[in-house]
Amino acid sequence: MLRHPCFDHKAHRVVGRLHLPVAPRCNIKCAYCEQGIGCVNESRPGVAGEVILPEEAISYVERALSFEPRLEVIGIAGPGDALANEETFVALKAVKDRFPELKICLSTNGLALPESLPKMLEVGVEFVSVTVNFISPEVGAKLVRWVKAQDLLKGEEAAYFLTTKQLEGITLAAQAGLRVKVNTVLVPEVNEKEIPLIAKEVAQAGASLMNIIPLIPLGEFSNHRAPTQKELNRARAKAAKYIPQFLVCKRCRADAVGVPGLADENLFSIKNAVS
Ligand code: SF4
Ligand code: SF4
Repeated sequence: MLRHPCFDHKAHRVVGRLHLPVAPRCNIKCAYCEQGIGCVNESRPGVAGEVILPEEAISYVERALSFEPRLEVIGIAGPGDALANEETFVALKAVKDRFPELKICLSTNGLALPESLPKMLEVGVEFVSVTVNFISPEVGAKLVRWVKAQDLLKGEEAAYFLTTKQLEGITLAAQAGLRVKVNTVLVPEVNEKEIPLIAKEVAQAGASLMNIIPLIPLGEFSNHRAPTQKELNRARAKAAKYIPQFLVCKRCRADAVGVPGLADENLFSIKNAVS
């Protein structure tokens, strides 16, 4: 089985990964989203020291490998949505051509997953993480402000469209042989009751792992509370009836580099350290 630090608890403290921050744009708007580019000290999804060009990917991978020889996985995790940026495919193709031994992953909200799958397979993507925060449109309308389809969708219509694409994308990706993990942000009083349903639906679609992470109160949800550890444990226990749970996510930056289960760094900080 292919090793990936975030698809396998045992690899989490052994295998390194690098996120290339080539994907700034997004095709949906989550209510809790707050991107941070030029961000040095914060450690959370959606932030990066800088956005790099796909043409710079190879030199960044070389630099990262000299800093962290345990790197086995190269991924794109934003700071927007990997699949809403053509740069993702340019960068991954260059990396796979130059370093065929490295494994490729990306994370996405899933909106463009069905249509992007052929291109993902072409550039060698083997792992995909899809963020699924709801199934029912009523809950989704509280979590997503808009979704860019042919028209700009809002409210329950946007939520329903996103869920449909996510489940279709997960199904197709799993059928194509990718390992699919689902990330779910637990938002107390908003989607906590929905967690077992999400777990059931994504498992049926073909996801093999679920990663429930606590809300970081930001954006429109900056006054919302994060779940307690007890609430998180309860949600994970309920979801585990349907799908295995990943329990050690570090909620990394879009330019993270290193072995996630050990001390972590980001591309921006090692840039100066090794140049
Ligand atoms: Fe922000 Fe990610 Fe949601 Fe896009 S999918 S709005 S980048 S949290
Ligand atoms: Fe792994 Fe979580 Fe970091 Fe993604 S955010 S690389 S799943 S530890």
